[in-house]
Amino acid sequence: MSAEVVPSEFTIKPNPNPMPEDERLQAFQSLGFGTLFSDHMAVIHWNVVKGWHSAEVTARGPFAIDPAAAVLHYAQEIFEGMKAYRTGEGKVVLFRPDENARRFNESAKRMAMPEIPQELFLGAIDHLVKADAKWIPEGEGSLYLRPFMFATEAFLGVRPARDYIFCVIASPVGPYFKGGAKAVKIWVSENYTRAAPGGTGAAKCGGNYAASLIAQQEAVEHGCDQVAFLDAAEHKWVEELGGMNVFFVMDDGSLVTPPLGGTILPGITRNSLLSLLRDQGMTVNERPYSFAEWQADAKSGKLKEAFACGTAAVVAGIGEVKFTQGNFQIGTGETGPVTTKIREQLVSIQRGKSNDPHGWVRTIDGI
Ligand SMILES: *Cc1c(COP(=O)(O)O)cnc(C)c1O
Repeated sequence: MSAEVVPSEFTIKPNPNPMPEDERLQAFQSLGFGTLFSDHMAVIHWNVVKGWHSAEVTARGPFAIDPAAAVLHYAQEIFEGMKAYRTGEGKVVLFRPDENARRFNESAKRMAMPEIPQELFLGAIDHLVKADAKWIPEGEGSLYLRPFMFATEAFLGVRPARDYIFCVIASPVGPYFKGGAKAVKIWVSENYTRAAPGGTGAAKCGGNYAASLIAQQEAVEHGCDQVAFLDAAEHKWVEELGGMNVFFVMDDGSLVTPPLGGTILPGITRNSLLSLLRDQGMTVNERPYSFAEWQADAKSGKLKEAFACGTAAVVAGIGEVKFTQGNFQIGTGETGPVTTKIREQLVSIQRGKSNDPHGWVRTIDGI
């Protein structure tokens, strides 16, 4: 059905008005997260007749979409998040981009959207990073890449749309949390849930985030950085944060992380940490962990550390937990040694500083 384009058929249209170099370098002095954007975007169209077509890298700019576009009414939208790093040798590398491509298609299936061939997804990333190579910060920063797809068909009936746009934009970023390596404060939401069995919790769709914002707002009102969600059926089991998975470090050296099972987003950072920890002979139990257990273990000292993980923040120690009935501290309240060590190990693989036993790092040739 679909006459698919191949990555070599991307049309490259350089931005005629890129940001002047002095302005860009000035902006690099104070990088936040997701506020500054590069000069280009990659765009590919899909419709039922042509399949994937008209792949290009062009000046970043607004889309013109019909007010009846399906995404604006029924939220058919999915996304990914990944980073390009500049290594000490000046190479540009991606971390497990094939996993982002695979997960994107899992999300697409769940939202009744067309899957995109992996080489097209990766081709869009490569072409965009090449066009915007000067937007990759040196040192601690990275170029955050945001692939996404949304339904553009002008149609108010309820069924999967017949037209979509796939796009990748890029944003040079510094640390996700303003406090740097400081441990974060977590608000446990006891009223709102993120994902129910049979729902869209394992898909990276915008709708999940829309539903989480009120809980995140509650977290901020209570002086916290992020919200943690409990399961929807019993409001008992710790699932994950708004946009990050969670691990617990016990006093016997073992770790616990909630199991995947449809209501938790299968994080690539989570999966990578499981491998790295197990490579070192550490025990990580993927098992349900209740909020009651979390409170008891923090109080008794059985729980030494907890951390959140995801592409944006990589690994962030959790120092304090608040909820309607009170609050408790984890360990010393600071980022602990196990958290610090595993973070450093992962970051140094991602940045091409240490060897890569699993072959996770992919170099973009020709930059
Ligand atoms: C993206 C995301 C994560 C983390 O996934 P990574 O692949 O590690 O970046 C965790 N939870 C949610 C809800 C997410 O959207």
